[in-house]
Amino acid sequence: MSDNSFFIQGLKEYGFDPTDEQIEKFIRYYDLIIEWNEKINLTAITEYKDVMIKHFLDSVSIIKAVDMSSVNSLIDIGTGAGFPGIPIKIMFPDIKITLLDSLKKRLNILDLIIDELNLKDIYTIHGRAEDIARDPKHREKYDLCVSRAVANLSTLSELCIPFVKPNGKFVSYKSEKADEELEKAKNAIRLLGGKVTSAVSFELEDNIRTLIVIDKTESTNKKYPRKAGTPGKEPL
Ligand code: SAM
Repeated sequence: MSDNSFFIQGLKEYGFDPTDEQIEKFIRYYDLIIEWNEKINLTAITEYKDVMIKHFLDSVSIIKAVDMSSVNSLIDIGTGAGFPGIPIKIMFPDIKITLLDSLKKRLNILDLIIDELNLKDIYTIHGRAEDIARDPKHREKYDLCVSRAVANLSTLSELCIPFVKPNGKFVSYKSEKADEELEKAKNAIRLLGGKVTSAVSFELEDNIRTLIVIDKTESTNKKYPRKAGTPGKEPL
């Protein structure tokens, strides 16, 4: 049995009071990621402590930037191995969570993991964000959109802000280069109906992490997102 005191301590420092069941879910999640990682590339980080800190604690650090009690629905764009969406689900079981990715193979594994961890009210969607954001079932339907390690902030804003309800939020998980990205993305964020309200920086295992919080102040113009691939090739 691994020593999880560093992880429990980390969660407590964020203000969580984790139950044994929540800790067990994280451990099981780790085991499943490592098991599946042999068959399909899910993560380059595989050491137990590294995954617990750099993937799990990092994912739930959202508590530092957003009042999660006001969030009922959340979408995670480019979720990969389930980050940050699955750790958020474990710590906030009442939030309805949607995990979106363009790679079906990864989502098939996430479906198995969701089942195995007995998580409820969490769904996977296969497709490109640019296409799914045009679907009325998903456009402007979420209180909160999150995304980590998917694209630069200008591109990401075009992929994410269309999913957010007016008065909702988009949070981008970034590193120490957040200021530079923010400067370049200002125009894109404004065009998409967003406004940067804060950038919360903190240290996680000697790495600077920054949560950029964007409030959606206006509905997104129907011309966004542009067709799949364009936000990446020609950021606004
Ligand atoms: N968010 C996870 C994390 O923090 O570990 C995964 C990051 S991984 C580097 C990027 C993921 O975004 C991949 O799984 C990829 O398939 C997905 N992705 C990239 N562009 C996308 C798009 N336009 N629509 C949907 N998914 C996308």
